Parts: sequence; structure tokens; C-alpha cells
Amino acid sequence: MTAPHPFPAHRDGGQVHLRLIATTDLHAHLVPYDYFADRPTDSVGLARAATLIAEARAEAPNTLVLDNGDFLQGNPLGDYMAYEHGLRSAEVHPVLAAMAAAGIEASTLGNHEFNYGLDFLAKSLATAPFPIVSANVVINPGPTPSDDRTLVPPFVLLDRRVTDGAGQTHSVRIGVIGFTPPQILQWDHHILSGHVTVRDIVATTAARVPELRAAGADLVIALAHSGLGAPDPVEGMENAATALARVPGIDAIIAGHTHRVFPSDDFDGQPGLDTLRGTAGGRPAVMAGFWGSHIGVIDLLLTRGAEGWQVTASASEARAIARRDASGALVATVASAPAVLDAARAAHAETLAYIRRPIGRLTAPLTSYFALVVDDPSVQIVAEAQRAYVAEMLQGTQHEGVPVLSAAGPFKSGGRGGPDYYTDIPAGDLALKNAADLYIYPNTVRAVRVTGAELREWLERSAGLYNRILPGQPDQMLIDPRFPNYNYDVIAGVTYCVDLGQPARYDLPGHLVAPDAHRITGLCHDGRPVADTDSFIVATNNYRAGGGGDFPGARVETTVFTSPDTNRDILIRHIHALGTIVPPVPATWRFVPMPGTSVLFDTGPGARAHLPEVAARGITEVGPAPGGFLRLRLAL
Ligand code: MN
Ligand code: MG
Repeated sequence: MTAPHPFPAHRDGGQVHLRLIATTDLHAHLVPYDYFADRPTDSVGLARAATLIAEARAEAPNTLVLDNGDFLQGNPLGDYMAYEHGLRSAEVHPVLAAMAAAGIEASTLGNHEFNYGLDFLAKSLATAPFPIVSANVVINPGPTPSDDRTLVPPFVLLDRRVTDGAGQTHSVRIGVIGFTPPQILQWDHHILSGHVTVRDIVATTAARVPELRAAGADLVIALAHSGLGAPDPVEGMENAATALARVPGIDAIIAGHTHRVFPSDDFDGQPGLDTLRGTAGGRPAVMAGFWGSHIGVIDLLLTRGAEGWQVTASASEARAIARRDASGALVATVASAPAVLDAARAAHAETLAYIRRPIGRLTAPLTSYFALVVDDPSVQIVAEAQRAYVAEMLQGTQHEGVPVLSAAGPFKSGGRGGPDYYTDIPAGDLALKNAADLYIYPNTVRAVRVTGAELREWLERSAGLYNRILPGQPDQMLIDPRFPNYNYDVIAGVTYCVDLGQPARYDLPGHLVAPDAHRITGLCHDGRPVADTDSFIVATNNYRAGGGGDFPGARVETTVFTSPDTNRDILIRHIHALGTIVPPVPATWRFVPMPGTSVLFDTGPGARAHLPEVAARGITEVGPAPGGFLRLRLAL
């Protein structure tokens, strides 16, 4: 639902219609291409968003196009530029060149701008074709935020000629100020420590806005690389856009960072937000999704009074580059803008070569054909990458020294994905794009702190994947096909057994239904039995830690670390660091032996080539199964 358009009034003499158009969280997505799948996609790309920008500009007499940060990093093109190509002096980073080609006139620093280090950032900014501002990333703090020496200019004053409803032109001075989440000090601690500090967003706003007004700004627009968040300020808050909007003197807010869309029904009823009028904290606001998925549009009606230009009406909306048709298929709403494709052409071509080139060598195949029935290296390598990263991130915090475990599962393991939906990477060269075979979802890393009792229940919930098996009977079906594979976690860092003779303790939605049943036995850490009162950190993802699958111990309240980095990026870094990957031989879990008992399970026919590798674990072929699968037998 959208508000009635408030701008017939702009025809009145003296009133000016100014349209702000915004992108956010582009993450180097210039071309509509999925570099991990190595094929075109309609769901991303500044080239598509640029066509929406051009349309929105053509509809309004006066426009200003802004970006909200997280432009430099987040896909293989960004990695290629930072790790392989580098920036020669006077070379414009292709992401910034493409943004300029799309019409973007100013931006701010998102948290991800820092991921490649301060030198690479400085080189990228040196040739930026438009101003990039941030008021709270500080090199040299002063007594107040206004006295700080900031890493980049805190704000910029844009003097623009605008045309009013009667065709007269006027000068308007627009102040554009930027903000970055203070949490970069933790997320990129090794890069930033000793070099920069970060001020609270709301406190910096309150200090700098009067300065902007004193410098003659008729309007102040905040580029807040920050989510909407709660209306009341909390020192150091990550998602501060709504609280910031309530600082007197702010006229409009471009928000983002959370990769969500505003205005949208998603935010109905949230304190401080009006999804119909498109306001946050009473000010016009917009969030344009991520990866070029949307543009944000804020229409401002400016009226000149005794106090200068005032915003007397506004409307906000988000416009998408693609929509779902009746069959659920994604359909592009616009074609790509040629100017953006041109600016990205060389970098895109070089990135294609980069994703197909080896980043490591595998000494043995990595597959997921058996990952639901035996302890599996394709799960273990993800778990190990997450565990090492979280352990590093928690150094120097109150959680340092608590054992770090890691939850991972075989996401690509048939089921509704079909008989070809398995990880199957041959031994030999491992290309960057193979990282998506090992971690298919664009999740981000989180860690939760759980008790030994919660850890045991987490594993019980996961073991609901299996049917109850009767001892001494042959050929019983092992897997409950209704159980979604993404709710199957192996937790590395402890050892345990799964007793299939017991009924499932939890039902499919996650209710405790068999309080006397215990499938998880022999749970040990470091060779010692886990006590209910023990404490552990579990590395996982935003889905699980956000309560996805309703796992005991995994929820917002137990989350102790939230990373902006994707699990896939962590895995890629891990593979880069290893170089040669010897698929780890995991020793995390096994089924409790049941002599004279066997079970059947279906997997992809690609498993046939790997049967010799698992023969010692009691797995043999039965034959074809419905739906194109291959049926195997496991002797328990
Ligand atoms: Mn982002
Ligand atoms: Mg961000």
C-alpha cells in the first residue's frame, strides 16, 4: 500500500519538488551475474538499478542520487579487485566508476569498506568520482565529535540549482552527512586497531547537524549505513537510523546495512516507523534492499518560509529490479543500463576468469552423498572454518577461553533439491566458485553461548532427521523425508553417538514429544563427558541463531557474536589460507552399533563412483530408487 502522492502542489510558485534516489549495500554487484553459480541472474546488479534510477530521474524536476555504502566488498568481483588486480595509481575502482555511470553523486562508508584494509580503501577513495563521507570514523578524536579528525570528510555541502513549480530556479545548499556502524572495531579489529576509532552515530549526529546548518545547509540528509532499529538511542547502537532521525535538523534518512526494504509491510507496527508515509522517527526514510535489488525514492516538497527551505510534505517508496510472476519465477522489471555495463566490462570479464581459476588443491574428492549417515569431510571443512574464525573474534572478550564448537550441515543433500543436488567436487584444482557447492546459502556467521544441557538438546533436535530403527531387522528406511535437511546440524568440537533404537525426542516442528527418549549418548568434550552446567560457544549462522528451526540454545538471547561476514567468505579465506586441502577425517559422531540391523537411504546416483571410499563403513549399493535417486544400505 502506498500513500497518495503529495506533489500536485509543486506546481504552486515557490514550491520545489526534490527527489532523492538511493542505492545501498551494492557489495560490488554491478552486472546481473551470480559468480558462484557462474550464470546470469535477474535478482542483482547496479546495471539494472541504474535503469530504475534513470526512470526516477526522468519523472522529477530536481533529483539527487545517493548511495549508502557497502559498495566495495561482497562478491568475487570485489575480491578480485582487492586480492588480484589491485589498484594502480590514478585507476578508478570499477565499482566507483560504475556507480558514477549510474548517476550516483555521493556515498558513505559501510562496514565492509574496511575488509580489504585501510591502504586499499585509501587507494579506492583517492580516485572516487564523487564525494564519500563519514562523520564517525575518526583518526584523531577531539573533545567533541565536531573537533574530530575523521578518516574521510564528515559531510559535504552540495550547492544545487533547483526549479520550482512555476519554472523559476533557486539555489539550495544540501548537506549530506554519513555514518558507519561502530561495530567495525570488532569485525575488522586486526585492520583498524590503533588506526581509527568510531563514534556513536546518534551523538555524532547531534554534534554535527548544527555545524551543517551554520555552514548554510538548507537541508540535511543522513546517509546512515545502519538499520532502522529502535527509536530510543542506546550508546554504540549498530542500527541507529530511527534514533538518528529524531535528532532535530535531520530532513531525510537513507538507511540500509540490514539488507531490508523500507517502506514495506515487513515493518508494519514497528515502533517509530510509519510504513504508509515512509517515515522513520517522523522523517522521510528509505532502505533499498541489497546487491542492487531495489532503489529507494524519497520525494520532498520544499517550501520557502522565513526560516529558509522547509520540507512540508514527503513520500517514500522502494522500487524493485525484479518481481515474482504467477508461477513464482523471477522476472526482471528493467533491462541493464549500457553505461554501467561498459564501466564494469573489464572487471566482469577478469572476474569470470578469477572464479574459474584454482584457489587451492584438493587431495581427495569432497562430496555430500553420505553426509547424513556418516561423519563427513564436506561438513567438517565448513565447521572448521567457522570455528577458527569465531575463536579469533572472541579473543579479548568475556567469552575468551570458553570452548568453541561449530555447527554445520550438508545443505546440498538431495531431498526436495533432487538427485543431482549434492556437493560433488573432484580431487584436483578447487575453483573459487566451488565454495558455493560447500556453502550454498548467503548466511552470515553468528555464535551462541549454550549450556551442556542445551548442546545435548540441540543435537537431539537434529537427530529428528532419522526414523526409529528396530534392532535386529534388515532394510528399514533411515531418513524421515519430511525433515528439512537445512535443519540437520552436526556439531564439531565434541564427540557423540546417535542411538537409532530410541524414538525422536523432538517432533518435526521442534516440540519435545518423547521426554524419556535420548538418542544422543556419550557426549564428550576433550574426552570428558559433557555436564549439563558446562558452557560452550557454538559457531553457526544467522538463520539458526535467529531461532530458525527452533533449536534449543540457539536464539537471539543466547547470541554473543554477530558477524557481517558470510559463512562462505569465511570458508573461502580458510581455503586460501590452507592452499592444499586434505579433506579432514572427522571424528565427531557415529551411530550406536546395532548388530544384525541394517537401514536403507537414498542419495544421488553420483554416489556410485565414491562407494569404494565408504565401503569400510558398511555402505553398499541396493539399486535405483524413485525420483532418480540411488538406494544404499548401511549395516549398523
Ligand atoms: Mn551490507
Ligand atoms: Mg553493512
